[in-house]
Amino acid sequence: MPLYEFRCTGCGPVERSFAMAEVPTSILCPRCDSESRRMVSSPRLSHASSTAMGLLDSTARSAHEPAVVSGSVPGARRSPTPMTSNPLHRKLPRP
Ligand SMILES: [Zn+2]
Repeated sequence: MPLYEFRCTGCGPVERSFAMAEVPTSILCPRCDSESRRMVSSPRLSHASSTAMGLLDSTARSAHEPAVVSGSVPGARRSPTPMTSNPLHRKLPRP
């Protein structure tokens, strides 16, 4: 069931879960028992945390809008060292 946000005048926002067809326009505040009116907001349909949802959003966004990278990749060598598999080259002086 989605979460809906209500606002108590004394306590602030209160979140409650209701079925979409049964959501009331106001509820009693669980702290002070005063009327809390429903705020106009999007219902939260997922149980994932905001951090997890942010990660999912950034992953989906990077699939279509990859970040522009400038400079070299961290950890990459600046000049590639030529490699050889000849054992005689091991005796050669190194720079
Ligand atoms: Zn209250």
